[in-house]
Amino acid sequence: MPESQLDVLRGKIDKIDEELLILLNKRAKIVESIGKVKETQSTKRYDPVRERQLFDRIAQNNEGPFSTTALQQIFKQIFQVSLELQKDDNRSALLVSRKKKPEDTIVNISGIKVGDGKQQFVMGPCAVESYEQVYQVAEQVKKHGIGLIRGGAFKPRTSPYDFQGLGFEGLELLRNAADAFDLKVISEIMTPSDVEKALDYVDVIQVGARNMQNFDLLKEVGKTNKPVLLKRGLAATIEEFIYAAEYIMSKGNDQIILCERGIRTYEKATRNTLDITSVPILKKETHLPVAVDVVHSTGRRDLLLPAAKAALAIGADLVMAEVHPDPAVALSDSAQQMNFEQFDSFMKAINPCVNVFN
Ligand code: PEP
Ligand code: MN
Repeated sequence: MPESQLDVLRGKIDKIDEELLILLNKRAKIVESIGKVKETQSTKRYDPVRERQLFDRIAQNNEGPFSTTALQQIFKQIFQVSLELQKDDNRSALLVSRKKKPEDTIVNISGIKVGDGKQQFVMGPCAVESYEQVYQVAEQVKKHGIGLIRGGAFKPRTSPYDFQGLGFEGLELLRNAADAFDLKVISEIMTPSDVEKALDYVDVIQVGARNMQNFDLLKEVGKTNKPVLLKRGLAATIEEFIYAAEYIMSKGNDQIILCERGIRTYEKATRNTLDITSVPILKKETHLPVAVDVVHSTGRRDLLLPAAKAALAIGADLVMAEVHPDPAVALSDSAQQMNFEQFDSFMKAINPCVNVFN
C-alpha cells in the first residue's frame, strides 16, 4: 500500500520528536552539570536574570509560525523541570538520603539495635520526679522485656511556671534506676552546653520537638557519637525534619532515630495530629530508623493502643509511650500516661502486633 501524504508528514513529525527528545535530554545533562557547579559555589539554583536573557533570545530569534508568547510558555516549562532536576540532584546528595546510602542504618544503643527489623518499645515517665518513681517504672519496663527507658529531666514546658524538670539530678536518678535493671536511657537535652555532661548519663540524647530546628544543638549532638532520637517539630514539614537530621549527620554522627510525634493542625480531638504516613515516607527518603511517639501525638490515653498498632503496622522501628506509677499526680502529661495496670494491658494487646507486617 502506498504511503499516504499524511503518513509521510507524520513520519517527519516522529523524526523531529525523536530529535527533540535527544536534544532535551542533552540539555538536561548540561543542566545537571550546572547544578553541581552551583552547589560548589553555593549559588542559588533559580536565576531570574538568566531566564530573562533566554526569553529575550527566543523573542529575537523566533521566525514563527509559533508566537513568541507560546514559545516562551513552552520554554518556561523546560526551565521549571530543569530546576526540579537540580533540586533532586541536591537532595540525593543529602547524607541521610536513601539515594546516598541504600541500606538501612541500624542504631546501636549500647547493644540494643533499632532499625534491624525487630520492632522495639521505649517506655517511661514523662518526667523524672523522684528515685522511687523511676525505680518503680524501670522495674515494670524490665518486667515486659523492654530494654529502653525514657524520662525527661529537662522539660520544655509551655508555661515557665510549670514543672521544669530536675535537670542533671534527674538524669542521675534515671541512670541509677535504669542501671538497677540493665536498661538503656533516653532523655531530652535542650541546651548545647549541657550535651557533653549529659553523655555520662544517657544512652540516647533526645532532641525534642521544640528544638528540632535548634541548629546549634543539632550540630553539638552531631559532634558526639551517642545515638540521637530527633523528634519532628511542632509544625515541621517532612523536608524540614530531614534537613534537621542532616544537620546532625553532617557533623559526623549517623546514629539517628527520627521520631514522628504529631504535628499541629486545626484538629482539636487529639493534642496533635499523628502523621502516620510520615513513617513510610521517611523510611523511603532516608536510611534512618523511624519511631512513633503515641503519647505526645495523641495526648489521649484511650488512643495509645490503636495508634501503636497503626505505627507497628505501617513499619515503625520503635514505639514510644509513657508510664507513671500514679498518672493522676504526675507533674506533667497526667492525661495520657499509663499506670502499671494499663501498661500491662497495653503490652498484652500490642505484643502480638510486633513484626506482623514486616
Ligand atoms: C517528650 O518526649 O518528653 C516531649 C516533650 O516530647 P515532644 O518534644 O515531642 O513534645
Ligand atoms: Mn510527656
